[in-house]
Amino acid sequence: MESIWQETIDWCPTEEQQLQLQFLYVAVVTANQRLNLTRITEPEEFWEKHLWDSLRGIGNLISNPSAMQVIDIGTGAGFPGLPLAIARPDWQMTLVDSTAKKVGFIQEIAPEINLTNIHPLVSRIEELGQQSQHRHQYDLALVRAVASANICAEYALPLVKVGGTAILYRGNWTAEEADSLEIAVAKLGGEISKIDRFTTPISNSIRHCVWLHKIVDTHPYYPRAVGIPTLKPL
Ligand code: SAM
Repeated sequence: MESIWQETIDWCPTEEQQLQLQFLYVAVVTANQRLNLTRITEPEEFWEKHLWDSLRGIGNLISNPSAMQVIDIGTGAGFPGLPLAIARPDWQMTLVDSTAKKVGFIQEIAPEINLTNIHPLVSRIEELGQQSQHRHQYDLALVRAVASANICAEYALPLVKVGGTAILYRGNWTAEEADSLEIAVAKLGGEISKIDRFTTPISNSIRHCVWLHKIVDTHPYYPRAVGIPTLKPL
Protein backbone atom coordinates (compact mmCIF):
# COMPACT_ATOMS: atom_id res chain seq x y z
CA MET A 1 0.00 0.00 0.00
CA GLU A 2 3.08 2.26 0.08
CA SER A 3 2.28 4.12 -3.13
CA ILE A 4 -1.37 4.68 -2.11
CA TRP A 5 -0.30 6.13 1.25
CA GLN A 6 2.11 8.42 -0.52
CA GLU A 7 -0.25 9.55 -3.27
CA THR A 8 -3.35 10.03 -1.15
CA ILE A 9 -2.07 11.44 2.10
CA ASP A 10 1.53 12.34 1.32
CA TRP A 11 2.74 10.16 4.18
CA CYS A 12 4.30 6.72 4.23
CA PRO A 13 4.81 4.43 7.24
CA THR A 14 8.35 3.52 8.24
CA GLU A 15 9.15 -0.17 8.51
CA GLU A 16 8.42 -0.02 12.25
CA GLN A 17 5.11 1.77 11.75
CA GLN A 18 4.21 -0.77 9.08
CA LEU A 19 4.75 -3.56 11.62
CA GLN A 20 2.74 -1.70 14.25
CA LEU A 21 -0.22 -1.28 11.85
CA GLN A 22 0.06 -4.94 10.89
CA PHE A 23 0.09 -5.94 14.57
CA LEU A 24 -2.95 -3.76 15.23
CA TYR A 25 -4.84 -5.63 12.51
CA VAL A 26 -3.94 -9.04 13.95
CA ALA A 27 -4.80 -7.90 17.49
CA VAL A 28 -8.23 -6.54 16.49
CA VAL A 29 -9.14 -9.63 14.47
CA THR A 30 -8.00 -11.98 17.24
CA ALA A 31 -9.79 -10.09 20.03
CA ASN A 32 -12.88 -9.71 17.86
CA GLN A 33 -13.86 -13.31 18.51
CA ARG A 34 -14.37 -12.63 22.22
CA LEU A 35 -15.10 -8.88 22.26
CA ASN A 36 -17.06 -8.24 19.06
CA LEU A 37 -15.13 -5.04 18.27
CA THR A 38 -15.79 -4.55 14.57
CA ARG A 39 -17.50 -6.13 11.60
CA ILE A 40 -14.62 -5.11 9.33
CA THR A 41 -12.10 -7.94 9.40
CA GLU A 42 -11.03 -8.60 5.78
CA PRO A 43 -7.45 -7.26 5.35
CA GLU A 44 -8.13 -4.86 2.48
CA GLU A 45 -11.33 -3.52 3.96
CA PHE A 46 -9.66 -3.13 7.35
CA TRP A 47 -6.79 -1.24 5.72
CA GLU A 48 -9.14 1.12 3.91
CA LYS A 49 -11.90 1.66 6.47
CA HIS A 50 -9.91 1.60 9.69
CA LEU A 51 -6.29 2.48 8.88
CA TRP A 52 -6.44 4.71 5.79
CA ASP A 53 -9.70 6.43 6.80
CA SER A 54 -8.37 7.23 10.29
CA LEU A 55 -5.29 8.95 8.89
CA ARG A 56 -6.87 10.60 5.85
CA GLY A 57 -9.49 12.21 8.09
CA ILE A 58 -7.04 14.68 9.60
CA GLY A 59 -5.83 15.86 6.20
CA ASN A 60 -2.56 17.77 6.18
CA LEU A 61 -2.42 17.85 10.00
CA ILE A 62 -0.69 14.48 9.68
CA SER A 63 2.45 16.48 8.80
CA ASN A 64 1.86 19.20 11.38
CA PRO A 65 5.31 20.41 12.43
CA SER A 66 4.46 20.59 16.12
CA ALA A 67 3.24 17.94 18.52
CA MET A 68 -0.42 18.04 19.51
CA GLN A 69 -2.66 16.99 22.39
CA VAL A 70 -5.41 14.93 20.78
CA ILE A 71 -8.61 13.32 22.09
CA ASP A 72 -10.48 10.56 20.26
CA ILE A 73 -14.12 10.55 21.42
CA GLY A 74 -15.96 7.21 21.30
CA THR A 75 -12.81 5.50 20.10
CA GLY A 76 -14.29 1.95 20.19
CA ALA A 77 -11.44 -0.43 19.34
CA GLY A 78 -9.15 2.60 18.86
CA PHE A 79 -10.18 4.34 15.64
CA PRO A 80 -9.07 6.84 14.53
CA GLY A 81 -6.83 7.19 17.62
CA LEU A 82 -4.55 4.15 17.39
CA PRO A 83 -3.42 4.55 13.76
CA LEU A 84 -2.73 8.22 14.53
CA ALA A 85 -0.75 7.36 17.65
CA ILE A 86 1.34 5.05 15.46
CA ALA A 87 1.78 7.67 12.72
CA ARG A 88 2.66 10.46 15.17
CA PRO A 89 4.50 9.02 18.18
CA ASP A 90 5.25 12.59 19.29
CA TRP A 91 1.52 13.37 19.81
CA GLN A 92 -0.27 12.57 23.06
CA MET A 93 -3.52 10.73 22.34
CA THR A 94 -6.36 10.41 24.87
CA LEU A 95 -8.72 7.64 23.74
CA VAL A 96 -12.14 7.70 25.42
CA ASP A 97 -15.02 5.29 25.31
CA SER A 98 -17.85 4.51 27.71
CA THR A 99 -17.51 0.76 27.08
CA ALA A 100 -14.95 -0.74 29.45
CA LYS A 101 -14.24 -3.86 27.37
CA LYS A 102 -13.19 -1.75 24.36
CA VAL A 103 -10.89 0.45 26.44
CA GLY A 104 -9.56 -2.72 28.10
CA PHE A 105 -8.60 -4.02 24.66
CA ILE A 106 -6.67 -0.81 23.90
CA GLN A 107 -4.88 -1.01 27.26
CA GLU A 108 -3.97 -4.63 26.58
CA ILE A 109 -2.43 -4.07 23.16
CA ALA A 110 -0.68 -0.72 23.74
CA PRO A 111 2.51 -2.23 25.22
CA GLU A 112 2.51 -4.98 22.59
CA ILE A 113 2.51 -2.39 19.78
CA ASN A 114 5.09 -0.38 21.66
CA LEU A 115 2.83 2.64 22.07
CA THR A 116 3.68 4.94 24.96
CA ASN A 117 1.80 8.03 23.75
CA ILE A 118 -1.77 6.85 24.38
CA HIS A 119 -3.98 7.45 27.41
CA PRO A 120 -7.07 5.20 27.33
CA LEU A 121 -10.02 6.24 29.52
CA VAL A 122 -13.40 4.73 30.34
CA SER A 123 -15.87 7.60 30.62
CA ARG A 124 -18.99 9.17 29.22
CA ILE A 125 -17.72 12.10 27.20
CA GLU A 126 -20.33 14.46 28.70
CA GLU A 127 -18.62 13.98 32.10
CA LEU A 128 -15.11 14.52 30.75
CA GLY A 129 -16.20 17.75 29.07
CA GLN A 130 -16.96 19.26 32.49
CA GLN A 131 -13.66 18.21 34.13
CA SER A 132 -10.98 20.89 34.29
CA GLN A 133 -8.18 18.46 33.39
CA HIS A 134 -9.89 17.82 30.02
CA ARG A 135 -12.03 20.89 29.32
CA HIS A 136 -10.40 23.31 26.83
CA GLN A 137 -7.21 21.21 26.91
CA TYR A 138 -6.92 19.69 23.43
CA ASP A 139 -5.52 20.99 20.15
CA LEU A 140 -7.52 18.42 18.22
CA ALA A 141 -10.67 16.38 18.97
CA LEU A 142 -11.75 13.54 16.68
CA VAL A 143 -15.16 11.85 16.52
CA ARG A 144 -15.90 8.99 14.14
CA ALA A 145 -19.17 7.06 13.91
CA VAL A 146 -20.49 8.06 17.34
CA ALA A 147 -23.71 10.07 16.83
CA SER A 148 -25.29 12.74 14.62
CA ALA A 149 -23.13 15.76 13.84
CA ASN A 150 -24.78 18.15 16.34
CA ILE A 151 -24.31 15.65 19.18
CA CYS A 152 -20.68 15.06 18.19
CA ALA A 153 -20.08 18.82 18.20
CA GLU A 154 -21.45 19.12 21.75
CA TYR A 155 -19.16 16.26 22.82
CA ALA A 156 -16.07 17.64 21.09
CA LEU A 157 -15.97 21.45 21.23
CA PRO A 158 -15.92 21.87 25.05
CA LEU A 159 -12.72 19.80 25.08
CA VAL A 160 -10.90 21.90 22.47
CA LYS A 161 -8.67 24.93 23.23
CA VAL A 162 -9.47 28.26 21.59
CA GLY A 163 -7.70 28.13 18.22
CA GLY A 164 -7.95 24.32 18.13
CA THR A 165 -9.92 22.03 15.84
CA ALA A 166 -12.55 19.32 16.09
CA ILE A 167 -12.94 16.94 13.16
CA LEU A 168 -16.21 15.04 12.68
CA TYR A 169 -15.70 11.99 10.45
CA ARG A 170 -18.89 11.51 8.41
CA GLY A 171 -20.02 9.36 5.48
CA ASN A 172 -22.64 11.33 3.57
CA TRP A 173 -23.13 15.01 4.21
CA THR A 174 -26.19 17.09 3.34
CA ALA A 175 -26.96 20.80 3.18
CA GLU A 176 -29.61 20.28 5.91
CA GLU A 177 -27.01 18.76 8.24
CA ALA A 178 -24.67 21.67 7.52
CA ASP A 179 -27.38 24.26 8.32
CA SER A 180 -28.33 22.58 11.57
CA LEU A 181 -24.69 22.04 12.59
CA GLU A 182 -23.85 25.67 11.98
CA ILE A 183 -26.42 26.75 14.57
CA ALA A 184 -25.24 24.16 17.11
CA VAL A 185 -21.58 25.01 16.66
CA ALA A 186 -22.19 28.73 17.20
CA LYS A 187 -23.73 27.94 20.62
CA LEU A 188 -20.59 25.96 21.50
CA GLY A 189 -18.08 28.71 20.67
CA GLY A 190 -17.04 27.46 17.25
CA GLU A 191 -17.60 27.69 13.54
CA ILE A 192 -17.51 25.28 10.62
CA SER A 193 -14.17 25.94 8.96
CA LYS A 194 -14.02 23.27 6.26
CA ILE A 195 -15.96 20.40 4.71
CA ASP A 196 -13.36 18.00 3.35
CA ARG A 197 -14.96 15.65 0.79
CA PHE A 198 -12.94 12.71 -0.50
CA THR A 199 -13.24 9.20 -1.92
CA THR A 200 -11.61 6.15 -0.41
CA PRO A 201 -8.88 4.61 -2.59
CA ILE A 202 -10.14 1.02 -2.93
CA SER A 203 -13.94 0.98 -2.80
CA ASN A 204 -14.33 4.58 -4.01
CA SER A 205 -16.76 5.41 -1.22
CA ILE A 206 -17.59 9.02 -0.43
CA ARG A 207 -16.46 10.48 2.90
CA HIS A 208 -16.74 13.90 4.48
CA CYS A 209 -14.73 15.30 7.30
CA VAL A 210 -16.27 18.36 8.89
CA TRP A 211 -13.72 20.67 10.51
CA LEU A 212 -14.81 22.89 13.39
CA HIS A 213 -12.66 25.79 14.53
CA LYS A 214 -12.87 26.84 18.18
CA ILE A 215 -13.24 30.60 18.45
CA VAL A 216 -14.13 31.28 22.10
CA ASP A 217 -14.38 29.22 25.29
CA THR A 218 -17.53 27.08 25.41
CA HIS A 219 -20.20 28.27 27.85
CA PRO A 220 -20.10 26.16 31.09
CA TYR A 221 -23.64 24.97 30.31
CA TYR A 222 -22.14 22.63 27.65
CA PRO A 223 -21.80 19.70 27.40
CA ARG A 224 -25.11 19.03 29.11
CA ALA A 225 -25.56 16.10 31.52
CA VAL A 226 -25.07 12.48 30.37
CA GLY A 227 -27.69 11.50 27.79
CA ILE A 228 -29.14 15.00 27.27
CA PRO A 229 -27.19 15.77 24.05
CA THR A 230 -28.70 12.61 22.53
CA LEU A 231 -32.20 13.21 23.88
CA LYS A 232 -32.33 16.87 22.92
CA PRO A 233 -29.73 17.55 20.19
CA LEU A 234 -28.82 21.22 19.78
N1 SAM B 1 -14.81 5.54 16.65
C1 SAM B 1 -14.82 4.10 16.48
C2 SAM B 1 -14.79 3.74 15.02
O1 SAM B 1 -15.00 4.63 14.20
O2 SAM B 1 -14.54 2.57 14.70
C3 SAM B 1 -15.97 3.42 17.21
C4 SAM B 1 -17.32 3.76 16.70
S1 SAM B 1 -18.61 2.93 17.59
C5 SAM B 1 -19.83 2.79 16.37
C6 SAM B 1 -19.21 4.21 18.68
C7 SAM B 1 -18.52 4.21 20.03
O3 SAM B 1 -18.84 5.42 20.72
C8 SAM B 1 -18.94 3.06 20.91
O4 SAM B 1 -17.81 2.32 21.27
C9 SAM B 1 -19.62 3.73 22.10
O5 SAM B 1 -19.37 3.05 23.33
C10 SAM B 1 -18.99 5.12 22.10
N2 SAM B 1 -19.83 6.19 22.67
C11 SAM B 1 -21.06 6.57 22.26
N3 SAM B 1 -21.52 7.59 23.02
C12 SAM B 1 -20.54 7.87 23.93
C13 SAM B 1 -20.42 8.83 24.99
N4 SAM B 1 -21.40 9.69 25.25
N5 SAM B 1 -19.28 8.83 25.73
C14 SAM B 1 -18.29 7.94 25.45
N6 SAM B 1 -18.34 7.03 24.46
C15 SAM B 1 -19.46 6.97 23.71
